[in-house]
Amino acid sequence: MSKTENTENITLPLVNGVQVLPLALSDLVNLLDDDCCQKWLFNVVRPGDLSGVCPLCSEPLPPGRLNGYQALKKTKCPACGKQFHATTNTIFHRMNLSPSELVVLAALLEVGVKQSVIADAIGRGSDTVQAWAAKLNGSKVRDI
Ligand SMILES: [Zn+2]
Repeated sequence: MSKTENTENITLPLVNGVQVLPLALSDLVNLLDDDCCQKWLFNVVRPGDLSGVCPLCSEPLPPGRLNGYQALKKTKCPACGKQFHATTNTIFHRMNLSPSELVVLAALLEVGVKQSVIADAIGRGSDTVQAWAAKLNGSKVRDI
């Protein structure tokens, strides 16, 4: 640490001329493993006994379809013949965020970070963060 820079009312330390805290925040999405975040999201929307069954007819999915289903890919149920994603009938259906972006957004919302700061951190607009804040704070995980 060699010098400091004033930002708003806080003096942030510089390390090799770089403000570490905002740099860590802006790199957070890229530092997360998207596959791990995807598995986390799957377990949120399809926990326990729901992890291996069709979300539309509740019939067990055959082993050959589970990998795609758990990877949040479109899956066809051999029992009912319908196509769906693991996020079907949840607030996460057709979300336009990567799993890593969603995890960062949700975690930062939970600890009270300003929505404009979250928008910068995930590289999205404030309107996106505002819409997700409303969904995550006012909705159940499953709409069904
Ligand atoms: Zn089905």
